[in-house]
Amino acid sequence: MDLLLFGIQGSGKGTQARKLAEDHGYALFEAGAQLRAIAATDSDLGKLVKSYIDAGNLVPAEVIIEVARAFVGEKSPDTKILFDGVPRTEEQRIAFDTLMQESGREFVGIHFLLDKDEALERVLGRAKLEGRVDDASEEAIRRRMNLFEEMTVPVINVYREQGKIRDIDAAGGVEEVYEKLTQVIEEPVGTIN
Ligand code: AMP
Repeated sequence: MDLLLFGIQGSGKGTQARKLAEDHGYALFEAGAQLRAIAATDSDLGKLVKSYIDAGNLVPAEVIIEVARAFVGEKSPDTKILFDGVPRTEEQRIAFDTLMQESGREFVGIHFLLDKDEALERVLGRAKLEGRVDDASEEAIRRRMNLFEEMTVPVINVYREQGKIRDIDAAGGVEEVYEKLTQVIEEPVGTIN
């Protein structure tokens, strides 16, 4: 069973994804990192992708879906994949569901719940360490957070209606949240507090 991770910027899902993938043998698909790698190339696609990322906008759906499709295509059916950062819009969800169906892959989603103000504090702290252009100002971060609420929360809601979402309170420290995460991937749908 594959896993999809959802959470507002600063919810810690990237950190948890890397840890979980390493400990539990998932192939990790990090949408943001994949796109940043393309943005670093000196190609027309690289320039295009960079312009979206630096502005804090979502790159066009077909770009990220093609990257995901290539990634899935390289994996054997018995390799579990952990998707971090896709799908983020309804358009992506439809294309992503098609990709998963065609590949015969099943998944559940995990939603890391965190208060927006706390999430903002965390991202501002991270920005100093990583020097990301898109984390540089409170305005830029808020913009991406609004995109999460407007575009990605509806995706989570569709999956929730399908019984595919498990919630985790992400307010604690890395180890505490990780413990909940490992618990929740073995538990039925619900929130682990
Ligand atoms: P992240 O590292 O997840 O914060 O993503 C950084 C940036 O990459 C986002 O602000 C978007 O510009 C782009 N990005 C990441 N994932 C997606 C996606 N699924 N669809 C479109 N753009 C994305």
